[in-house]
Amino acid sequence: MSVLGSWLRATIEADKAVALVMEQDPRDTIARCDAALAILDEHDIVQVDGIGKNARVTQIPACKTCGTRHGVPCRTLRLLARGYRHREGYDDEWSPA
Ligand SMILES: [Zn+2]
Repeated sequence: MSVLGSWLRATIEADKAVALVMEQDPRDTIARCDAALAILDEHDIVQVDGIGKNARVTQIPACKTCGTRHGVPCRTLRLLARGYRHREGYDDEWSPA
């Protein structure tokens, strides 16, 4: 998992925990958090064959759903994280291009 992915998972799980304690009816917040966590899982990073240095086949990181081999984390995760851009720890370099 990328730094963005780890940060996003921790942020979403914290929101979920707060909702369970603080909200009178947390179902909507919990549902949104669970959906975001599912998207995060769907766009996790895997290792795939690719061309590395010296033009040799090597393992490179890629999104398991998008197949993006360059620029992981993928655009989907960057867009998902963008919704949390005002939170502490968000890195502007994660912004989608
Ligand atoms: Zn992806």
